[in-house]
Amino acid sequence: MRMLIMGPPGAGKGTQGVEIARHYGVPAISTGAIFRSNVERGTELGLVVGQLMAKGEYVPDEVTIKIVAQRLAEPDAAAGFLLDGFPRTVPQAEALDLLLAEAGGPLQAVLSLLVETETLVARMLKRAEIEHRADDNEDAIRRRFEVYQAETAPLLDRYSGQGLLVEVDGVGAVDQVTARCAAALDAKVQGR
Ligand code: AMP
Repeated sequence: MRMLIMGPPGAGKGTQGVEIARHYGVPAISTGAIFRSNVERGTELGLVVGQLMAKGEYVPDEVTIKIVAQRLAEPDAAAGFLLDGFPRTVPQAEALDLLLAEAGGPLQAVLSLLVETETLVARMLKRAEIEHRADDNEDAIRRRFEVYQAETAPLLDRYSGQGLLVEVDGVGAVDQVTARCAAALDAKVQGR
């Protein structure tokens, strides 16, 4: 199973990504989580990306693409993967198509989590209290929505045009949403 999970900031990509990946027995690969781990460990990459993330800006495509290419080349990704938070720009989507043409095979589904903006903002402010993520402050949250609309939302049309998009209501208890996602993805993949 080769798939993506997409959605605006706060839609629950990380939480659902882990659950859905477990359901299909594939690794969940989150660029945001890889970047945060590098920031925490104070690596060279962490120093480059930390400030951008804290402002709600995207990490440059060339940096992000390199990280994903390396991660997809690891043995556990050979039988499939769920990418969370990548691609986020058109150049990243094009790079992913090339990577998959060279190895693995094309994407089979792109899951899009649908959540209204008001709910998203409320969720992110709550997460800010609990997790203390550096990019969960008001200015960074606003900026992340702007960047998402400008750079990432257009990818939904791209994947819809390729017949890959699976839209799921992302509001509800975590396990309910997971069950909805799994049912929709199963139907999609079996229908091909
Ligand atoms: P996330 O955990 O997916 O919300 O990502 C947190 C932050 O990491 C984003 O706001 C970006 O600053 C950075 N990031 C994660 N994935 C990407 C990507 N594919 N392209 C650029 N920046 C990214």
